Amino acid sequence: SPNNLQGYAPICLGLEDFYIRRLYLRIQDCFGRPISSAPDAWFDVVERFSNDNNKTLKRTEKINRCLNLGSYNYLGFAAADEYCTPRVIESLKKYSSSTCSTRVDGGTTVLHNELEESVARFVGKPAAIVFGMGYVTNSAILPVLVGKGSLIISDSLNHNSIVNGARGSGATVRVFQHNTPSHLEEVLREQIAGGQPRTHRPWKKIVVIVEGIYSMEGELCKLPEIIAICKKYKAYTYLDEAHSIGAVGKTGRGVCELLGVDTADVDIMMGTFTKSFGSCGGYIAGSKELIQYLKYTCPAHLYATSISLPAAEQIISAIRVILGEDGSSRGAQKLARIRENSNFFRSELQKMGFEVLGDNDSPVMPIMLYNPAKIPAFSRECLKQNVAVVTVAFPATPLLLARARICISASHTREDLNKALEVFSRVGDLVGIKYFPAEPKKL
Ligand code: PMP
Repeated sequence: SPNNLQGYAPICLGLEDFYIRRLYLRIQDCFGRPISSAPDAWFDVVERFSNDNNKTLKRTEKINRCLNLGSYNYLGFAAADEYCTPRVIESLKKYSSSTCSTRVDGGTTVLHNELEESVARFVGKPAAIVFGMGYVTNSAILPVLVGKGSLIISDSLNHNSIVNGARGSGATVRVFQHNTPSHLEEVLREQIAGGQPRTHRPWKKIVVIVEGIYSMEGELCKLPEIIAICKKYKAYTYLDEAHSIGAVGKTGRGVCELLGVDTADVDIMMGTFTKSFGSCGGYIAGSKELIQYLKYTCPAHLYATSISLPAAEQIISAIRVILGEDGSSRGAQKLARIRENSNFFRSELQKMGFEVLGDNDSPVMPIMLYNPAKIPAFSRECLKQNVAVVTVAFPATPLLLARARICISASHTREDLNKALEVFSRVGDLVGIKYFPAEPKKL
């Protein structure tokens, strides 16, 4: 929407149409000719409202204002904020929307340096480097960190940006069962010694890649166990905190803070600014030497236009609010609210009989539909009742593990959540997805 100064990406509703279209394209491929009835639907276009922290959005033409339970707007910073927005507007007036320069050719400003210092301090690492896009942060950094002769061991449910970066790196890639430290150890043992007593270590580097909160599962990483294994086998740890930084931990510092892990034990900390900070871009935080090396060698730093300054200002300001450096307690209130909202919503859904994945404190809440055929019914019925949810299916999930993925925000009120619960209850009965109905009370 033109009102949205943070440049928050438009969200995609009506994903059922996307899957139907993919299916048509597949069938078309099989028959080797176009199918005349293939629908033209791709992504629905929506209108967002910046004056209520993108809590609601409008599906153009088809439906009126909906309660937005689909965006990663965890702390409600994705639009008008009394501290961030005036500063973003000021920086837009002062600097405009683009630096039109790469970081090395006049595109590094005082604000870029301030952003990197602020991110490093916030996540608890000596240094950080920022990029204009979260996806690119993973896909461009991994090929710089590892190459032929190195080994990447990646969680089986890692995000596509990690998969792409790992593939593009030329390193050997092995996958371990999702969030299963014992299987990670098995893979490491196999790869280091081929199952035989260890004679030599055949890899230049070994990097184990995990996510803080898994975006399709809502699950917290078993980070302490994974770190212990990485230490034992001298492997580097790479942690993607796209969904956890800002969203969990007493002061919003992500899964390390929540799970009591010392950030010194995580070698490479990655995150995005597109969720909790309501901006765009991504970061890598690590040792001074690592960040210096990346600044000299990473093509996405050397050859890409630097992150836009209004976006940088939004991140710096959001971090100040989270840390209470704006002189208010709004940051602490937001953190308390997202935790309360997430735990309330998860437990209410469970009480109703839904199968909800993920852990307490996680704002990501997949409701299992299983059968992909239930996707259109679920999302359309919710939309009819003015609740917007994102539905996810193959290839983002295994074929028979379709789900609706709810993202809770600190900007949702109890009234919003109660309204959504009423709608889900009705639609859940209609579509038949209350897989654990409560026992009927004995009279
Ligand atoms: N990593 C993970 C785990 C993600 O879920 C995403 C996107 N949601 C990204 C990286 C890419 O981030 P961005 O959308 O900011 O480009």
